[in-house]
Amino acid sequence: MSAPEVSVVIPVYNEEDVLEALFSRLYPALDALGRSYEIVFVNDGSRDRSVAMLREQYQRRPEVTRVVLFNGNFGQHMAIMAGFEYARGERVVTLDADLQNPPEEIGNLIAKMDEGHDYVGSVRRRRHDVAWRRLASRAMNRLRERLTHIRMTDQGCMLRAYDKAIVDAIRSSREVSTYIPALGYSFSQNPAEVEVEHEERAAGESKYSLYKLIRLNFDLVTGFSVVPLQLFSIFGIAVSLVSIAIYLVVIAKRIALGEGDGLWVIWDRDILTFILIGIVLFGLGLVGEYVGRIYQQVRERPRYLVQAVLEPKRDA
Ligand code: UDP
Ligand code: MG
Repeated sequence: MSAPEVSVVIPVYNEEDVLEALFSRLYPALDALGRSYEIVFVNDGSRDRSVAMLREQYQRRPEVTRVVLFNGNFGQHMAIMAGFEYARGERVVTLDADLQNPPEEIGNLIAKMDEGHDYVGSVRRRRHDVAWRRLASRAMNRLRERLTHIRMTDQGCMLRAYDKAIVDAIRSSREVSTYIPALGYSFSQNPAEVEVEHEERAAGESKYSLYKLIRLNFDLVTGFSVVPLQLFSIFGIAVSLVSIAIYLVVIAKRIALGEGDGLWVIWDRDILTFILIGIVLFGLGLVGEYVGRIYQQVRERPRYLVQAVLEPKRDA
């Protein structure tokens, strides 16, 4: 079997209520594309009928279906990672099982890639959002962009397409907690975004609690930026400088007024405490600096990606 043009990777965790609907829309949508494809389902340790349903579907369409079964729940991103491991397509599209992102949109992402993009993200067309929510999410985005240099309008949207080169780079990163769309973005050369329709979850319930969402944002910032660690240094320097300035003013004033007894003129417990706090904070940031370096080292991300090398063919 030769490599298909498109691989679609779908993590599945307790999705028995929605799988049938997914199959009945996904396969026709991909058949209609007129490109060779494969679908890689990764079962992330479902405890419901999902596995049986995936087996059935595999039997129905074995030529375009592959199923990877985890023996436990390792999380959505690890499931996608495994899907990347097994996907053979020239382009890999990730999609949620719950039909929140319509499979009919896959064609649009692929068409965008045809224009020469190696990474195509998606932005949910928002219909009923109130103004302040839109503002809040825009502010959140800008903050993240500044911290991590990752421009992603809609981080919650998993419908994304990656070129094989990016998938390989993602695969070769050996990190345990990661956010795949951001990792993919950081390896991309010419990213783009398209607007997609967005629906409510077709059936079943969200596997994400508020806590998990907060964790995700944390992963995003700590996984792609060491700024939080460096913040302490900056804060420490600021505290020190301000306290030293106040200190000098106070001492100068005391001397001018002839206050204080001998050497005690330079003693001011409160201000000296602040200077010390500043130094401690600075030290904390300094340690953070080293920890950050260790952190970057252990992730073993590829340090650079070579697109091509132009050189004469060597004779063997
Ligand atoms: N998922 C998974 N493992 C998990 C949680 C979720 O594989 O531990 C899958 C889930 O089956 C779905 C996708 O990840 O295909 C997104 O999950 P969900 O729709 O619950 O997230 P939400 O859309 O609410 O953010
Ligand atoms: Mg969902």
